[in-house]
Amino acid sequence: MKPPPVRWTTSPYEGGTGLERLVIFAEGRQNQPMANPIFANLPTTIFEEMSGLARELGAVNLGQGFPDDPGPEAIRARAADAVLNGYNQYPPMAGLPELRQAVASHYGATQGLVLDWASEITITSGATEALAAAFLGLIEPGDEVVVFQPVYDSYLPMIRAAGGVPKLVSLQPPHWRFTRAMLEAAFTERTRFVVLNNPMNPTGVVFPEADLALLAEFCVAHDIIAICDEVWEQVVFGNARHRPLIGFPGMRERTVKIGSAGKMFGLTGWKVGFLAAAPDLTHSLARAHQFLTFTTPPNLQAAVAWGLENAETWFREMPRDLARSRDRLSDGLERQGFAVLPAEGTYFLNIDLAASGVAMDDRAFCLHAVREAGVAAIPVSALYEEQPVTNIVRLCFAKRDATLDAGIERLAKARELARKAAPAEDLPARA
Ligand code: PMP
Ligand code: GLN
Repeated sequence: MKPPPVRWTTSPYEGGTGLERLVIFAEGRQNQPMANPIFANLPTTIFEEMSGLARELGAVNLGQGFPDDPGPEAIRARAADAVLNGYNQYPPMAGLPELRQAVASHYGATQGLVLDWASEITITSGATEALAAAFLGLIEPGDEVVVFQPVYDSYLPMIRAAGGVPKLVSLQPPHWRFTRAMLEAAFTERTRFVVLNNPMNPTGVVFPEADLALLAEFCVAHDIIAICDEVWEQVVFGNARHRPLIGFPGMRERTVKIGSAGKMFGLTGWKVGFLAAAPDLTHSLARAHQFLTFTTPPNLQAAVAWGLENAETWFREMPRDLARSRDRLSDGLERQGFAVLPAEGTYFLNIDLAASGVAMDDRAFCLHAVREAGVAAIPVSALYEEQPVTNIVRLCFAKRDATLDAGIERLAKARELARKAAPAEDLPARA
């Protein structure tokens, strides 16, 4: 929306004391946004909104993605020791060498990648900062950036702040896959980047090799850079396999791979992220990082380095335990009449409201569920910028059994109340 024109009461630069002039200046601008509209016009993120409601109403929180256990004790003990006995001043800008080495060897051992820790790894304050560094460090004004919807909430504002022009590709339930025709429609001669979140939040999809090969083919043919948000790379279940796009033919020099210790170790508040990219790209990423946060807490970096070197058991057990929690939530919800979509990775599964006999849209259902039944969830439409899918609700299963059981009971209550308010026969026919 265009702001109304500024009506100056008087020139801010004439007469009066400095303070008077400042007041007059502010009055003159009161109808005009003082801040960058990209950020001024944003709502609070859906994750914060729903967690805020859950706190306020004492609800079971299956919304925002965080485990409700405290995380691996040995790694936390390491961090505590590093705070008390370690080095607590600025670490090197690109990260502690021991952590950069540990990240490079972790990706070598688990994903078959050969990365040079000194010229290809940068440590950031979470994947959020890594994404910001990639967008600000690489995008030039006017560059088109292909992005998949539903889209993780930080991408679009940061792409726009960098001057990029997002080109959206809409993925649809239940499979959320992209096709050649969808990519052909999105890529133009101005495309310079594609952003891929794999495994994907909120859909729980782990993209198969064929889809990734197709995307890699487009990246090479259009000579563009892929920014790959792979924070969920370690949270993959059953027979699904995470394959990093950087490992596909032609992608090694044109991919920025982003990871997060928060997701690897279930320590979401730690905000220790990794950027892996060829030296030329790393140079620009590090230049952006040096003015975003400059460094990341050294004690947490030291603990993550130790964790990566001693995590074999954790990386085997964590996905197995999470898959069990996923099944507990999924089975419980199905018993209560919910239609549950498959989830191969991440902390999340989705329910289809229409297929569950609920006639509300996702946002209305989530507000109803938190207020009337005491359970918080995420409406997936909040993660679409245009033409939202409005019948899908995301639930976090990285929770103790008691939390999951309470969540199932409360969601069942929310469903029953919703069905009483709007009986299922009023529903439009299912596609
Ligand atoms: N990208 C995706 C897809 C995420 O799901 C998250 C957090 N859940 C992030 C980035 C942010 O990660 P971090 O907390 O390390 O900043
Ligand atoms: N990534 C977390 C989720 O998807 C939320 C992080 C945040 O609140 N920014 O739930």
